[in-house]
Amino acid sequence: MSRKWVYDFTEGDGKNKKLLGGKGANLCEMTQIDLNVPPGFVITTEACLAYLDDPERRLPEGVMEQVHANLAAVEKKTGRTFGGREKPLLVSVRSGSAISMPGMMDTILNLGLNSQTLLGLINGTGNDRFGYDAYRRFIQLFGKVALGVPEEKFDTEFEAVKQKAGVKHDVDLSTSDLTDICDRFLKVVQLFTHKPFPTDPYEQLEIAIKAVFNSWMGKRAIDYRREFKITPEQANGTAVNVVAMVFGNMGNDSATGVGFTRDPGTGENVMFGEYLVNAQGEDVVAGIRTPKPVAAMAQELPKQFNELMELRRKLEAHYKEVQDFEYTIEKGTLYCLQTRNGKMNATALVRTSVEMVKTGLIDKRQALLRINPEMLNQLLFPRLDPKNSSKPVAKGLPASPGAAIGIAVFDADRAEKLGRTGERVILVREETKPEDIHGFFASQGILTSRGGKTSHAAVVARGMGKPCVSGAEGITVDIHLKVARVGDTEFYEGDLITIDGTTGLVYLGEVPMIEAEFSPELETILSWADEVAQLQVMANADTPEDSVRALKYGAMGIGLCRTERMFNGVERLPIMVEMIIAETKEDRIAALGKLLPIQREDFKQIFEVMAPRPVTIRLLDPPIHEFLPTEKQLVDEIKELKNLRETIRGMRVLTDAAHFMNLSEIKSKIQGFTDPELVDTVIAKKETMLKKVRALHEVNPMLGHRGVRLGLTFPEIYEMQIRAVLEATAECLKAGIEVHPEIMVPQVCTAQELKRVKEWVLEIQKSVEKAYGLALKFKFGSMLEVVRACMRADNLAEEAEFFSFGTNDLTQATFSFSREDAENKFLPMYNLSNILQDNPFEVLDVKGVGRLMEQAVKWGRQVRADMKVGICGEHGGHPASIIFCHKIGLSYVSCSGPRVPIARLAAAHAVLLEKI
Ligand code: ADP
Ligand code: MG
Ligand code: MG
Repeated sequence: MSRKWVYDFTEGDGKNKKLLGGKGANLCEMTQIDLNVPPGFVITTEACLAYLDDPERRLPEGVMEQVHANLAAVEKKTGRTFGGREKPLLVSVRSGSAISMPGMMDTILNLGLNSQTLLGLINGTGNDRFGYDAYRRFIQLFGKVALGVPEEKFDTEFEAVKQKAGVKHDVDLSTSDLTDICDRFLKVVQLFTHKPFPTDPYEQLEIAIKAVFNSWMGKRAIDYRREFKITPEQANGTAVNVVAMVFGNMGNDSATGVGFTRDPGTGENVMFGEYLVNAQGEDVVAGIRTPKPVAAMAQELPKQFNELMELRRKLEAHYKEVQDFEYTIEKGTLYCLQTRNGKMNATALVRTSVEMVKTGLIDKRQALLRINPEMLNQLLFPRLDPKNSSKPVAKGLPASPGAAIGIAVFDADRAEKLGRTGERVILVREETKPEDIHGFFASQGILTSRGGKTSHAAVVARGMGKPCVSGAEGITVDIHLKVARVGDTEFYEGDLITIDGTTGLVYLGEVPMIEAEFSPELETILSWADEVAQLQVMANADTPEDSVRALKYGAMGIGLCRTERMFNGVERLPIMVEMIIAETKEDRIAALGKLLPIQREDFKQIFEVMAPRPVTIRLLDPPIHEFLPTEKQLVDEIKELKNLRETIRGMRVLTDAAHFMNLSEIKSKIQGFTDPELVDTVIAKKETMLKKVRALHEVNPMLGHRGVRLGLTFPEIYEMQIRAVLEATAECLKAGIEVHPEIMVPQVCTAQELKRVKEWVLEIQKSVEKAYGLALKFKFGSMLEVVRACMRADNLAEEAEFFSFGTNDLTQATFSFSREDAENKFLPMYNLSNILQDNPFEVLDVKGVGRLMEQAVKWGRQVRADMKVGICGEHGGHPASIIFCHKIGLSYVSCSGPRVPIARLAAAHAVLLEKI
């Protein structure tokens, strides 16, 4: 006996999506919980892989036999015969892999029709219009999907007949028009394939099954998997579902529709979707006619509407997740044809999570886990400033929320090309098709002039979290002339437009945007996350303003405050430069004396904002030449200054005759005069700087004189910073503000370095305590960003009360990659050819860098059991890296403000996933 390749819907395991594909597994599951699904069966993904493996592309042995046997069962259940002249059975042949890839693979409807069965269909229904309508659809889909006939060839004929008949919509075509179309379509196929259209239903079926299998390796599907990083472990091969046809195109008591159990754009708990009366399959999503919102069905087909609401309830109760489903009503009977978990944007995910917990459908744990932390990014998207006074030029449907600005581009290829150059692009189309997918990736947003909220454009944009306005019917798009007309204005390719997917409004030009606000639901979710998480989430913030923002995002403290940014202010940099170019220690101390109050004030403000949360301040880290101009810049400036000096000298000669001039003449000459001596002073200063820049030149600055190395060479700098921190602390304490400062030393590689700095700290502490008459409490700790520091973590732990992994530097050091060079020169190639799976500067390399971290944590805690350990590199905001940080027992992660919510959710996931 051959392997089992085929499962009837009554027997397939609804949990086994890898074997049956998502669509197939759910068809089985729905059948088994007694929802009204037409009978059918699934051919497994294993059959697909075996088929694709065979160089001669034959179906594996046993497949067609099992198909026959299962088809017999379907015939029995429906009382129809496949290929029968009376009561013919028609089927759909549908793709479906483990991960849904909407629109990427192909489906054929009404299979089993030929001139004989067509008559049977017509006799059985007494409806010849319907018969020919089904037939023309079949020839077209089969021709396109199974025989590779270009779609335009059918479209041209279809339009020709519509024009001849003088009608706008397919439903207005008469039976004889449809007959004409069928004849033309058959000719199209014959002309293109040089063979008559296959008439044997079993032959049709076999060709169709192979075509669906082949579509797994089609360009569209491959691109999609690459873009969404769908690996073979997640989905390998497509299943084929063979399903008895039910007909939504049998008249006005028939319909077809798609819907979500809740609104996938807002999360609101109402059925969301659209339907079309007297239509079949793809009609709703293809934008053939503009579909009606599902609410209209309450009047039009009230009984079926109630059944639909009942179906909606059952689906959610069973799957405990918002469902995206397809249904057809055939002469008043409702059938469910597909369901899957609904793809929602972050707003909807968050809202439904909260509401589904409130009604007891799911628990908090499930509510948190169903939100991918990275999705929260969308909520931090800007939206249009509600105060803007711009007038919209058109209104379409709010198909995917959020606002986007970009230049209008009318085709996907151009959008891709321009997007690659960094241009912000809005893809503008009449309607989109699966072939346009690459244009979506490249665009900020999508605008279509046709199609509903379940049109292709809307569904795909929502899946990607990109703003979309669909069906903006006021806009006429001419893709050939690359212009769109709206009323009496128009916009061309390259013109800036703004779309608002939340309201459906379209604007010419750029409309101001504002930052997103936290919804109460998001606050709820994040508070649940905080209850569960063990890791604390801190923010990297360098200024009081940053700190305010970090608090808004829910930071539990500041994990990294970089003091260098504070020196870059306009009034500060000159003092910093003065300090750097100082020839003597005295001069340097004088300059530092001016910086001290400034820095103390910064710290004080940050402490006040964050009180009583901890604030970790890192002493100066970058090489000091970063505060000076470049050598070339100085050389050029000096040259110009010298020229200027000569000009001024020349003018002085001229004014030696000033005693011949009258007063106003002299005044006008003197005005704009500069003293050449003054220019000389400037030149001298610049020359000192130049000398300094040359002296400071390093072959490899990232590995050079920076961090604690610099601190130890010029103790005055760190002493000033330490004093600023401690005095700010003292002042806050005096003002009754609770502060928890932490002083962190960068670039440490030996305990001796820490020891020296610590001595200064203790000394300054004494002096500050004395001056202010109070006792200071703070922590002293070390960055771990040098490999040696990790290896000596136990020794460092004798000096340091906390560690913070600087994984940017640590990654560079562990790989011996300099980031810029790596990312510009060879990392993309490494990733493409799978030498390295990810960019280690984005995704923490747990196998190498992570292993080092794990050891360092262990060694550090051997000496100091309660050692606080965190991470403050960019990785601190990356969900997968956060999960790893949790695993190795870190106490906190620190990341940029806007990533704090993502990190909070990821920290909760880390705990929840551990328990599974
Ligand atoms: P996709 O994965 O692209 O959604 P489907 O396999 O779901 O493709 O089918 C395309 C369309 O045809 C859908 O609207 C679906 O509801 C409809 N359809 C599929 N099978 C049948 C059937 N047996 N009877 C009626 N309509 C069907
Ligand atoms: Mg479908
Ligand atoms: Mg660093």
